Amino acid sequence: MNLLIIRLLIFAVLFYAGLKLFGMYRQWQRDRLTQEREDQQQDGGHMVRCRWCEVHLPENEALRNDGQWFCSSAHRDRFLQEQKQHPRDNDTDQ
Ligand SMILES: [Zn+2]
Repeated sequence: MNLLIIRLLIFAVLFYAGLKLFGMYRQWQRDRLTQEREDQQQDGGHMVRCRWCEVHLPENEALRNDGQWFCSSAHRDRFLQEQKQHPRDNDTDQ
């Protein structure tokens, strides 16, 4: 009878350890995946689109202004100028 309880205990401990190891393995795998994704982002970069000329370029080479992306300061300035002269649909009626 005692032996059965010991066996059950050992089984429970092994089961628990297995779950723990599996959890650690999953965590490790997830960390590796995020690491790889970060590496990829450093290589290619996340692509954004210039609001003015609609050309695609890596995020780290783009300029950001008010949540809009631009390929150069010239295009940013032109876009802002254009907006001042002809305000676009969403901010016309106030
Ligand atoms: Zn542009």
